[in-house]
Amino acid sequence: MLASSIKSMLPKNKRVLLLAAVTLAVAMISLQVLFYVTIQREVMGKAQETVTNVLHIQQAIRGYVETVLRPEAYRLQEQDILAADYFSPEMMSRSFVSRETLNIFSQLHNETFPDFIFRYSSKSPLNLINQATDDELALFDFFDQRDCVQPDGCSELSEVRYISGREHLFYALPLGRFKQECLKCHGDPADAPKALTDRYGRTHGFQRNVGELSGIMSIALDLTPYRQKGWQVFALVGGLNLIIFTTVFIFFWRMLRTKDCQDRLLLQKNDELARLSSIDTLTGLWNRLQFDREIIRSMALAKRQGESLALILLDLDYFKNVNDKYGHSVGDEALKCFADFLRRACRKSDFVGRYGGEEFIIMAPQMDEAELVEYAKRLLEEMVSVDYPYELNLTASLGLALMQADEDADRFFCRADNALYVSKAEGRYRYTLADRDCSKFPHMPRGKMNVHSSV
Ligand code: GH3
Ligand code: MG
Ligand code: MG
Repeated sequence: MLASSIKSMLPKNKRVLLLAAVTLAVAMISLQVLFYVTIQREVMGKAQETVTNVLHIQQAIRGYVETVLRPEAYRLQEQDILAADYFSPEMMSRSFVSRETLNIFSQLHNETFPDFIFRYSSKSPLNLINQATDDELALFDFFDQRDCVQPDGCSELSEVRYISGREHLFYALPLGRFKQECLKCHGDPADAPKALTDRYGRTHGFQRNVGELSGIMSIALDLTPYRQKGWQVFALVGGLNLIIFTTVFIFFWRMLRTKDCQDRLLLQKNDELARLSSIDTLTGLWNRLQFDREIIRSMALAKRQGESLALILLDLDYFKNVNDKYGHSVGDEALKCFADFLRRACRKSDFVGRYGGEEFIIMAPQMDEAELVEYAKRLLEEMVSVDYPYELNLTASLGLALMQADEDADRFFCRADNALYVSKAEGRYRYTLADRDCSKFPHMPRGKMNVHSSV
């Protein structure tokens, strides 16, 4: 049901519609792929920006501890305000302070900030929560090979990693190498502040060497919310894309349908024009132009099928008198009456036309001589009973011819015309069956010999 109603709505030129559909689909898919790539790039850019921001804040805090807080503690120690072996990670450990700050940051952005895992790692940390995992130990090798001395001068690592089945943007940065002054807290535990060894013990975080990579800072940002946002934009753009392309397609479809209607109208008009050009406007019968076309076609068909074809020319007798006596319009009425009579009297398969003036023509297929003569007699008989205007008594003279296998249309018509001429010459209101000769009157005496019958 639906299929048939869609089928009826299809334009005539289905191939153009199909081509348009394929082109639009390809354009839509290409655009969608382009959107996909752009959105994914945008998603990664946003995540990268977030990670960089967090790390920059961390570096700023570490810098503040190193350049402001620690010197301040040392100054207080020099002034004996603080004990000489005073140590407080809350004030002097860069990693401690930055992680604590990050915890506050995470609490502030509890809902709005995407999940992330932040890590400081060291091969031998003072605080054991910073102990490097196997993956992180591999990172030490990675950065060692790149000869990282200063965090700023080091190449960082940025890659997508799957952690607990979720996609993360993993970003790692080396913290730099141990300097001589670092060994105060990371060299011999005996030299380290007592508060430090009291807090972290003496077994780990010591005996480090100058030039060793001190640690790695890493962050793994959960990409899921970024991806989700990306998919939302992608779906929205895709929906819009689909609406736009569907609208264009429907518009194109309608355009094709409109063109079909215009074509159909044009064809109808052409048909109408062709019909008008082949019809006699006064009587509605076929005109001479159409007869000239039709005789060629009918003769070819009859010859091909080995069938007979007859021609009857009819010329109204003394028709000039009608015009002279009753006027031209009455003459016209009489011509229409005669045309109607012919239309009624002829077989459906016959061609009936007005050849010109008061001359008519009938082309009758599949008719032998006897039938043709019978036909002519019947026409002559019936034409006098027609109800003409002003009770006119109209008659016509007939010229009959049967097609010969070896003749063309001109000769065929010429013989019928000659026969008509004979009927006129013989006294009118009669028929004459043409012989094989086509010579015109006045060489007609021979034709006269061939008058087969008369009324
Ligand atoms: P004939 O028996 O020899 O055929 O005599 P006729 O008067 O019919 O022949 P003629 O050729 O002398 O005259 C034909 C007339 O037919 C002349 C013309 O006025 C008339 N006629 C031709 N076409 C029309 C037409 O369309 N309307 C009218 N009213 N008369 C026409
Ligand atoms: Mg005439
Ligand atoms: Mg006449």
